[in-house]
Amino acid sequence: MTSSFPHRPTMVVVTGAAGFIGSHLVQGLLDNGLEVVGIDRRTPETDAIARLNLRDVTGHPRFSLFSGDLSFVSLNLLVRDAACVFHLSAIPAVRASWAEFERYVTANVMATQRLLDACVQEGVSKVVYASASSVYGPAEAPSGENDPAQPISPYGITKLAGEQLCLAYAKRPASRLSVTALRYFTVYGPRQRPDMAISRILAAALAGEPFVIFGDGTQRRDFTYVGDVVAATIAAADIEVPATVINVGGGSSISVSDIIAMARTVTGNPVPLTAGAAQAGDVPATAADLSLARVLLGFQPRIDLQTGMTRHAQWLQKLPADLLRTYGPPPTTDQDQSAP
Ligand code: NAD
Repeated sequence: MTSSFPHRPTMVVVTGAAGFIGSHLVQGLLDNGLEVVGIDRRTPETDAIARLNLRDVTGHPRFSLFSGDLSFVSLNLLVRDAACVFHLSAIPAVRASWAEFERYVTANVMATQRLLDACVQEGVSKVVYASASSVYGPAEAPSGENDPAQPISPYGITKLAGEQLCLAYAKRPASRLSVTALRYFTVYGPRQRPDMAISRILAAALAGEPFVIFGDGTQRRDFTYVGDVVAATIAAADIEVPATVINVGGGSSISVSDIIAMARTVTGNPVPLTAGAAQAGDVPATAADLSLARVLLGFQPRIDLQTGMTRHAQWLQKLPADLLRTYGPPPTTDQDQSAP
């Protein structure tokens, strides 16, 4: 997707713009010459992580941020004239979803339905939805898009519901809305959410404080660098298929123990470990079959784990001390080694 610049730039909307992936997507879209309207309930004025995430785009002449909750605000004016709505806002993370299901349903399902209604009413022709590998549940082999979706966490169930709701809107008779749902596999890189494993592991190595490892470290994840996710997400805006689901993964399945070893390599420091129990909803392994992504998006992951983790570690090292504490130890029971 590119802009019609020097005429009025093409406008797109990003929900969850102040989040980890959303803020990288905003940057990628601006780099493509687009005008970007971000929506997020976190604001840089009141939230340190939103401020950090949006630091590089704040004040950009083609970026504006609307601070509000998708569950309450009027969305029609915001999506009117959008060439594409990238729907990334959600409550992520598996573990907390056991205790807070109502919040997850409200943010991940009900808010999605409000957004879809606004898109239909305003004649928006394209929605790209951020789905998740968590919709698959436990899998023996790389998951293909036609494999059964059997999520084993409340979070995964809300992501599957949001994804299928988007597809149902696209498949309605006479619908003019086209939907691409991207199933992201564990995303990492600078600004990764502080509850996620790679952030915690790198911060533990940098600070010399313990990382709580859930289970025996053999859980495998298809870790995906955020820049690759952004490339796939922008490419998804242009595909012609009216309603489809596509995996976006890093291309190899790597254990948490391997990540700990890589953290040592890229920081030069060991990662002190504390044992914790295996967690409910945490699948043993995720791996993406990327065949469809190659065909429909021309997608190929570009950043290998060592390069990606080096960039991630360098970003953490530049954080002011108070924020490094937010990203790093002491480990909390909220940390998420699951497959979001
Ligand atoms: P994030 O928490 O950093 O970003 C999500 C943003 O959405 C936050 O800034 C939050 O304030 C906002 N938000 C949530 N509910 C909202 C609402 N009702 N109204 C307005 N704003 C709201 O999460 P992330 O890791 O960047 O994930 C982005 C998307 O990608 C999510 O949909 C998530 O389910 C999906 N995903 C992420 C991963 C991953 O590894 N990070 C993997 C698979 C899928």
